[in-house]
Amino acid sequence: MKTLQRKSELTFGISARGRRELVKHLKGGKLTRKEAMLAACYDCVCGYEDGKVDCRVMRCPLHPFMPFNPEGKKGRGEDSPEN
Ligand code: SF4
Repeated sequence: MKTLQRKSELTFGISARGRRELVKHLKGGKLTRKEAMLAACYDCVCGYEDGKVDCRVMRCPLHPFMPFNPEGKKGRGEDSPEN
């Protein structure tokens, strides 16, 4: 896998939670569990190009931790991205 040389090489997405973490991952950096969850959601919704909104994929195991899930604080455990 080719790694990013500069942040600007990430050619999709808006400034939102998970972008910095995704760039860090693509550059070969180690992520915490929280950072990995944020990066996964950012990548999954193509960098929030449709806006900073809930993906509404309730069946996804990461949905309770999705940064823009309005119900997100319910049921979050100790591994929450907010922790
Ligand atoms: S919670 Fe939504 S945005 Fe995050 S990985 Fe799951 S489907 Fe994708």
